[in-house]
Amino acid sequence: MWIQPDEMIDRVTRAVMARLPVPATPRRLTVPIGVSVRHIHLCRAHVTTLFGEGHELRVFNELYQTGHYAAQEQLMVVGPRHAIERVRVLGPPRAYSQVELARTDAVAVGLDLPLATEGRDPESRAVTLVGPEGTVRLPGGSEGGAFIARRHVHLGVDDAAALGVAAGDLLDLEIGGPRPTTLHGVLVRVQAGWRPEVHLDTDEANACGVRTGQTATLIVPSGEGADHG
Ligand SMILES: [Zn+2]
Repeated sequence: MWIQPDEMIDRVTRAVMARLPVPATPRRLTVPIGVSVRHIHLCRAHVTTLFGEGHELRVFNELYQTGHYAAQEQLMVVGPRHAIERVRVLGPPRAYSQVELARTDAVAVGLDLPLATEGRDPESRAVTLVGPEGTVRLPGGSEGGAFIARRHVHLGVDDAAALGVAAGDLLDLEIGGPRPTTLHGVLVRVQAGWRPEVHLDTDEANACGVRTGQTATLIVPSGEGADHG
């Protein structure tokens, strides 16, 4: 059968391409670690109750994620056994309030807290907040409460795509330094505009000997993220 020269070139090109190794998807990413000290997120109504009518949260320092900040405002977190004073509020205000504690804090205040990703988790617990102008009782469950934050990584849409992962995937984190460790089950969270950053709480960070700003290597374990293309 007669083959047109153009078609021949096309066939040869495709045959050569098929034999070239497929470029491997990058499966590792160097990311900074942010250590989350116990903190509180508040809805606007609770800012008013705790700090007074017309009060606006004031910036204490900017956080790594654009637009987020540690506020000057602090509150007392009261549990059944104990209270912790001067717990930092993070801004801006959110749709609902939540308290994020390390397990060590939870034991101190007398709360058996679940590992969760948000304060509206059905397992989150009731807790009381005391401010200079008032007191708020977070009911827990779907209305917001206290929990221990699951270790997670913030990724922008492009970073997640480049790594071949999606929200909800669980990755590994290889940490160097004086207490080298690999953490598993680092939950992927994805939002447009986020900068890559792993969040660990103080218990995890202290156990691994890491501080805010230190970098570590995010690794996609085999079998994770494979079906996201
Ligand atoms: Zn986070």
